[in-house]
Amino acid sequence: MKAASAVADRRLRAKIVAAMRAMDARGLNRGSAGNASARTAAGMLITPTGIPADRLRRADIVAMAEDGTWSGRRAPSSEWHFHAAILAARPEIGAVVHAHPPFATTLATLRRPIPAFHYMIAIAGGDTIRCARYATFGTRALARNAVAALAGRKACLLANHGLIALGRDLDEAETIAIEVEALAEQYWRALQIGRPTILSAAEMRRVVAAFATYGQPGGVEPRNERGRARGPAPDRRRRDAISRRSRP
Ligand SMILES: [Zn+2]
Repeated sequence: MKAASAVADRRLRAKIVAAMRAMDARGLNRGSAGNASARTAAGMLITPTGIPADRLRRADIVAMAEDGTWSGRRAPSSEWHFHAAILAARPEIGAVVHAHPPFATTLATLRRPIPAFHYMIAIAGGDTIRCARYATFGTRALARNAVAALAGRKACLLANHGLIALGRDLDEAETIAIEVEALAEQYWRALQIGRPTILSAAEMRRVVAAFATYGQPGGVEPRNERGRARGPAPDRRRRDAISRRSRP
């Protein structure tokens, strides 16, 4: 690896570790649940299987080529199929995060999309946050269902499972994951005491257009801040195999 790309590789690994720790710190993931990936020239970097965020190090991040072969000292996340499928289907997307946050996952167990009960759902790119059809974790079927639910969107729920958020980079994907979980909590709370009023399609078109004008999701009403973390080093070769140990 050339010096410049080695530096870029190290930085991206550190950003993946930081994103996983930030999601853990905010309660979006617990234990070894959740995973994250980022696009590289050769394919993607992705979190390994079965390592809790607080023990994750840069050297644990797995480099995976587009054909599914990988290198590194750990096996890739058991959900690498949907990370790879999303990055292949969405050239404008540079990063994917996945979590099992309490409120988004609660709605996902009801297989219930999040409607436009609040204008901020436009952060995911439209007037709904869809719930992808159920398929067993780690399968190509789940990857297909996720790609379909994410059409024109940067987030979706996964039936009886959790949440996926996308971004041009890890910062955006993480911001959207945090926001969608906050929205899921607000929607859940509203459902406890009544039926929230849903904004019209015309109003949501205005909101989505305004978000685009401001140039970034959340730019209309920024409400996220985040923590940072670092980790250290080396790398070794292996072949395609998926660990069955981990939770997806
Ligand atoms: Zn999962």
